[in-house]
Amino acid sequence: MRTARAFGSRARFLLDLGRAQAETTAMATGFLTIDLDALARNWTVLDKASGGGVESGAVVKANGYGLGASAVARRLARAGARRFFVAAAEEGAAVRRALGPGPEIGVFGGHMAGDADKLRAHGLVPMLNSIEQLTRHFEALPGHPFGVQIDSGMNRLGLEPAEWAAVREIAISAAPRLVMSHLACADDPDHPINASQLRCFREMTDGCGIPRSLSATGGILLGADYHFEVTRPGIGVYGGRPFEGAEPVVTLDLPVIQVREVMPGEAVGYGVTWKAEHPTRVATVAAGYADGIFRYFAHQGRMMHHGTPCPILGRVSMDLITVDVTHLPEDPVSLQLLGESQTVDDVADAARTIGYEILTSLGARYGRRYLGGGA
Ligand SMILES: *Cc1c(COP(=O)(O)O)cnc(C)c1O
Repeated sequence: MRTARAFGSRARFLLDLGRAQAETTAMATGFLTIDLDALARNWTVLDKASGGGVESGAVVKANGYGLGASAVARRLARAGARRFFVAAAEEGAAVRRALGPGPEIGVFGGHMAGDADKLRAHGLVPMLNSIEQLTRHFEALPGHPFGVQIDSGMNRLGLEPAEWAAVREIAISAAPRLVMSHLACADDPDHPINASQLRCFREMTDGCGIPRSLSATGGILLGADYHFEVTRPGIGVYGGRPFEGAEPVVTLDLPVIQVREVMPGEAVGYGVTWKAEHPTRVATVAAGYADGIFRYFAHQGRMMHHGTPCPILGRVSMDLITVDVTHLPEDPVSLQLLGESQTVDDVADAARTIGYEILTSLGARYGRRYLGGGA
C-alpha cells in the first residue's frame, strides 16, 4: 500500500515536472504554478472596491511581480483592465507585444534619455517626473500622450509642489492622460501621513479637470476619498498583503533529491550549524538561494507536505535546502514552499521581508505552468 501510494505521488510529481520542463528551456529545479484565474478574481475584487465610475488599472512592473508580465497582462485584459503600468519603457514594450494595440500602458519612470523611440514605437505613456522630463518629452515627442507624477510627501518620484505650480498650467493645457502621486504608508491605515498626502494631492490637483490617481492596493483599501478616477493595484492582484482577502496565486513545489537518516551528534549543512539530538530523516530539496529562497529564511522557515510543516535544518545553500521530514508517514517526493498552506506573506515574514520581494525573487530556473486563461 505504502509503496503504491508513494509511487503514485512520485509519478504524478515527475509528470508535472516533465511538463513544466517541456514548456521551458530553463533547467527546472522545481515548478511554479501560477493560477491566472485566481489573479483575475483578485483584480476584480479590487476593481469593485475601487468603486463605481473609478477605473482600475493593473501594475505589471518587474515582469508582473515575477510571475510573467505577458501572461498576467493578457489575463487581466480579459478580466477588463484597460490601463497597465510598468516601471520602465523596456518593460512597457514587452507588455505592448503581449497585449497588442488598445490598452494604455503607463511608465512610472517617465521619459528617460534615449526612450523616445521606444515610447513612440510601442505607444507608451510616460509619467513625467521632473521639469527635465517634461522638457525632454515635449521636445522629442510633441503631441505624444503623457501623464504627470507629482510628489505629495514620499520624496521619491515626481514634481515637487513648487515645480508643479510653475508648470501646471502649461502641462494641463497639453491634456495629460493622468495626474498621479504615490502613498508612502498606505499599508498602515492609521499612519497620519496618509491624510497629509491626500490633502497635499488635493491642493495640487483640485479643479485640474484631468483624471487623477493616488492609490495602489493599500490606498484602495483606505476608502473612497483615496480613489479619484483611476486606481493602480499591484500586490493585491498577485495575492499579497495588505489585501487580506486575496486568493493565493502562486504554488511552488520543489523536488526532493534524496532522503537520509542522520544520527544524534551528526550535523547538517554548511557551517555545521544544526546537530541532530535524535535520529532524524533529512530530505535534500533541489532549490536554494540562487532560486530566491533567502538564507535568512532558514531561521524560522519551513516547507509543507500536504499541509504538514517540515522545518528547514541548517543553512540554505545555493541550490539545495535540507528539511526535517522525520514526522512524515513516508519519504516525500516533493515539498511545497508556496501554496494554500503557506502564503507568500508567511514566507516573507519568516524571511523578514515583504511579499513583493519574495515574488520578484522567484528563480529563473523553475519550470512555470499557467492555469486558466489559456496564456
Ligand atoms: C508598484 C507601484 C504601484 C503598485 O503598488 P502595490 O502596493 O503593489 O499595489 C502603484 N503605483 C506606483 C507608483 C508603484 O510604484
